[in-house]
Amino acid sequence: MITVAIANQKGGVGKTTTAINIATAMAATGWKTMLIDLDPQGNASTGLGIDAAHREMSSYDVLVEGASLQECAVPSGIPGLDVVPATVDLSGAEIELVAREDRAGRLKAALRGDDTHEICFIDCPPSLGLLTLNALAAADTLLVPLQCEFFALEGLSQLLQTVEQVQDRFNPDLGIVGVALTMFDRRNRLTDQVADDVRECLGNLVFEAVIPRNVRLSEAPSHGLPALIYDHKCPGSRAYMALARELIGRLPKERIAA
Ligand code: ADP
Ligand code: MG
Repeated sequence: MITVAIANQKGGVGKTTTAINIATAMAATGWKTMLIDLDPQGNASTGLGIDAAHREMSSYDVLVEGASLQECAVPSGIPGLDVVPATVDLSGAEIELVAREDRAGRLKAALRGDDTHEICFIDCPPSLGLLTLNALAAADTLLVPLQCEFFALEGLSQLLQTVEQVQDRFNPDLGIVGVALTMFDRRNRLTDQVADDVRECLGNLVFEAVIPRNVRLSEAPSHGLPALIYDHKCPGSRAYMALARELIGRLPKERIAA
């Protein structure tokens, strides 16, 4: 199984939207897919229609209680996509874990026990705390959504610094699969300029596929559906399909086989 963390310590940059739709695209392509919701806000769980009654076991139980992913995963309603939901309990997990020696390796240990999925996405919270650290320590690779706005690159250096620390301390093989530009608005010259600047700065690390600002992407979660199901022809859905295709081409081959 290959594990992809979706992280950026900024909030509202499109992490959850990317996690939901890219996981759906992978499942639609035939990959046995799991999405772990690691944000106490539980937006990925809600956006996939997992209501509170179906969150008896959650990512909190995995991290704090040592529950297995199989015990906590629920079907999403999308064939081939299981979800480990998040509940507000998770906001206390960082404090509960802080005194434990293996505090950053809890998710990694749980993922070792999963042999039923081919790819796992982790939707991270908007911080670089212990939850995101668990995700980065467990991941084979990192996907960074970057919103096309003026301060897009600010904060990225801090994220990259964290990646280096994780590589040094917990996970030497952690890679960066790419940076995905989100909420691109071609009518807005500023987002155009930002996209150019980011490409100049990061080169091939930036995915060719760009996610447009598209109201269908923001409507879909209120129906408990990925945009890819809610309206598979909208520009946002098409862009996420293109991103998924590109992602598949970039995944480390040795991990796909494993
Ligand atoms: P994060 O998980 O990084 O906080 P979200 O994916 O939750 O970000 O996105 C923040 C808000 O922006 C949500 O309301 C979401 O529906 C909306 N959104 C995300 N991506 C797009 C997009 N490409 N076009 C329009 N709205 C978007
Ligand atoms: Mg989110």
